[in-house]
Amino acid sequence: MAKVKKFPEIVPVLGEKIKIELVDKLVIDNEELLGNFDSNTYTIQLENMTDEDKRDTTLLHETLHAVLEVSGMATVINNKDFEEGLVEVLERVLHKLYKRR
Ligand SMILES: [Zn+2]
Repeated sequence: MAKVKKFPEIVPVLGEKIKIELVDKLVIDNEELLGNFDSNTYTIQLENMTDEDKRDTTLLHETLHAVLEVSGMATVINNKDFEEGLVEVLERVLHKLYKRR
């Protein structure tokens, strides 16, 4: 049996505690997603994937959305497409750095 990595329940972001929930299936606005950050409840929901690498990447991606929200940068950017592009670039760079450790 594959070893299932323990997942954190909380990720601290700039002094805020972001909750992490693993869900079997994540559907928001009729769209199936791998992850989502809810800025109202400060909760990251992740689909409970078997691919750990993909799950790590998704957690990193949603954490970056949380960083932009908590820091107020999401409000400054005020453009979902721009925010998404920024998060994707940062995710790629940080994921590579993280994997090297
Ligand atoms: Zn995103």
